[in-house]
Amino acid sequence: MKKLLILGAGTGGTIMANKLSKVLDSSEWEITIVDAEKDHYYQPGFLFIPFGIYNKQDVIKPKANFIPPGVKLVFKKIDLIEPDKNRVVLDDGTILNYDWMILATGTRIVPEETPGLVDKLWRKNIFDFYSVDGAVALREFFRSWEGGKMVMAISEMPIKCPVAPLEFVFLADHYFTEVGIRDKVDISYVTPLPGAFTKPKSSKMLGELLKDKNIEVVPEFYIESIDNDKQVIKSYDEKEIPFDVLTIIPVNMGSELIEKSGMGDDLGFIPTDKFTLRSEKHENIFVLGDAANLPTSKAGSVVHFAADIVYENFLSAIENRPMMAKFDGHSNCYIETGFGKGSIIDFNYDTEPLPGTFPLPGIGPFGLLKNTKMNHYGKILFRWIYWHILLKGRELPIESEMSMAGKKI
Ligand SMILES: Cc1cc2nc3c(=O)[nH]c(=O)nc-3n(C[C@H](O)[C@H](O)[C@H](O)COP(=O)(O)OP(=O)(O)OC[C@H]3O[C@@H](n4cnc5c(N)ncnc54)[C@H](O)[C@@H]3O)c2cc1C
Repeated sequence: MKKLLILGAGTGGTIMANKLSKVLDSSEWEITIVDAEKDHYYQPGFLFIPFGIYNKQDVIKPKANFIPPGVKLVFKKIDLIEPDKNRVVLDDGTILNYDWMILATGTRIVPEETPGLVDKLWRKNIFDFYSVDGAVALREFFRSWEGGKMVMAISEMPIKCPVAPLEFVFLADHYFTEVGIRDKVDISYVTPLPGAFTKPKSSKMLGELLKDKNIEVVPEFYIESIDNDKQVIKSYDEKEIPFDVLTIIPVNMGSELIEKSGMGDDLGFIPTDKFTLRSEKHENIFVLGDAANLPTSKAGSVVHFAADIVYENFLSAIENRPMMAKFDGHSNCYIETGFGKGSIIDFNYDTEPLPGTFPLPGIGPFGLLKNTKMNHYGKILFRWIYWHILLKGRELPIESEMSMAGKKI
């Protein structure tokens, strides 16, 4: 039997297990997927928990529900990858050998990387919403908060879903208006980027929206530490920003496993060919999702598009055919902007988010870089699509390659 080992049963690993189990002959192939956690989180849903729109139960389902029959599911922490021996060691000492591997171990938040972040104010006045526990703790805090200075800060890039902190401040503006204390809440958006977002057109549109909502943007702020006594965040160039409540996106890094196995860059992301999605160092390893060091967003949409490329190239590689599928860095993100509206961006390695209509030229129904109710419905519908279509590796009517149709240059 040939052995395919999938590391990580999150978004990417689950999609690949579903896609490949349909086409690999079960009399020739043994597919195993390993993950440390039994719960699958719909991570985009974390955004809505602090504002009472979703609760914890709305974003969790058992991972086992999404792994197809015939794929061996192992719930164990992976301790080490030994790529030169084609084997993996689990934390109980079990050894799993492989012929081919798909690495989809994602990214994790590492608040300890920022001095003073995990200190006496952690989960009292300082919160993250990139973990379910952080999002739930923030919900509890907001229930009785009477207002003050709220700072939303990004510690450093890259982070997964780079629009999520923007969505957070838009929803905060909405939420505090609804509970009647918006005039008592001062919202600041603190980012290491030169503006609201990375690329000129989207940064302008989102920056204007922030301004309309009276949310202050503090660009090019590189967080050095948090002073818990003074309740300020400090930058490397010695600027200080005071806060009553700080919501922060902690440093994002690849799985500890990658660092321990000597397979990552400085942040633990795996050097990956940005077109073929094969590991730069190991020919029998493909890398999918947030774990890869690709110059595009770390987002579920990227995982979904990239999965088509990994699928094609994996099937070519195992038959010694040339790998013809080429990933273009396609990313597509709905951006919740509050008050029942949203925006959407669609871009790739070479094309920045542009205005226009999506997916159909002139028709939409979604408006690129526009603030519309329809875009909000797209975001809300996405949770259903995620559980029922995307994770199961089923086709969606959106091509993995980005289309220029409907985009205005
Ligand atoms: C707040 C928030 C909002 C978001 N919003 C959006 C959005 O609107 N749109 C969008 O497209 N994306 C969004 N995302 C991003 C999206 O959820 C991720 O990009 C996507 O889930 C990444 O998939 P993945 O398979 O690479 O990693 P994951 O789904 O995170 O899976 C990685 C898996 O690897 C396992 N693992 C890691 N190390 C080990 C180990 N040593 N042993 C065993 N198992 C291990 C983990 O347990 C995990 O199950 C959001 C994320 C967050 C946090």
